Amino acid sequence: MRLGVLGGRAVAVSGDRAADIASVSRGHLPADPMALLEDWSRVRDQVAGLPADAYGLQVDPEALQAPVPRPRQVFAVALNYPPHAAEAGYTPPDEPLVFTKFPTCVTGPSTTVALPRGKVDWEVELVAVIGRETYKVSEDRAWEAVAGLTVGQDLSERVSQLRGRPAQFGLGKSFPGFGPTGPVLVTPDEFDDPDDLEITGLLNGETVQHDRTGSMVFPVPDLIARLSAVLPLLPGDLVFTGTPAGVGNRMNPPRYLTEGDELVSRIQGVGEIRQHFTAAHP
Ligand code: ZN
Repeated sequence: MRLGVLGGRAVAVSGDRAADIASVSRGHLPADPMALLEDWSRVRDQVAGLPADAYGLQVDPEALQAPVPRPRQVFAVALNYPPHAAEAGYTPPDEPLVFTKFPTCVTGPSTTVALPRGKVDWEVELVAVIGRETYKVSEDRAWEAVAGLTVGQDLSERVSQLRGRPAQFGLGKSFPGFGPTGPVLVTPDEFDDPDDLEITGLLNGETVQHDRTGSMVFPVPDLIARLSAVLPLLPGDLVFTGTPAGVGNRMNPPRYLTEGDELVSRIQGVGEIRQHFTAAHP
């Protein structure tokens, strides 16, 4: 099942068609995507069971919005792919390195980002969306906590991210528009193997990042078990699971996003998101 948001309303997506979930259920199911996720374990079978003739809307891909518009918690993980840890000058960590992207940075799949002052870099990431309140779940049951997967960009302003000793990642990764997501949320059952998906980042058509999510040091269920061992995960929470090698600040010479660039982030079985960039704020 593929879930999207059009005009602020939750839709089920099939190919280029969509069903407005609240309308076709005659109000039994909520229009608000956050309310739908809040109740996801109870309502998912009803959404999955919508008849083919419910899909009466034509999807304009440019009109799709963030599949989770107002997450309460946004987790992100550093150095979760060994080649990226190596390019950053580290060995793979023994424990997940967790930081937050503040939720106001979350946006949809087709956006234009105004570059702040500094050095803005790209990080294509698989994002896991939590589908039920989850506390102290075991790794072998952690996929049950996941409503679905989506594509994310962990846009990062490296000067403010790495300033200070020790560095504090949160603000440098939370400028407006720094958390684009989408194009839809795809339920785990849609994948042959949700633990091993091709992940690609393209800058102006050139592949700059390419790996498989199976390379992760801490795969999705391990991350969810470890996060939920500390605090409750809530419906609609996002977990940015780390980026593969190929970020700009580890290139020689370093390369950062500039006005006019186009960044495409793609994950097998989910789709792609596309960001354009405009000149720095004054
Ligand atoms: Zn990241």
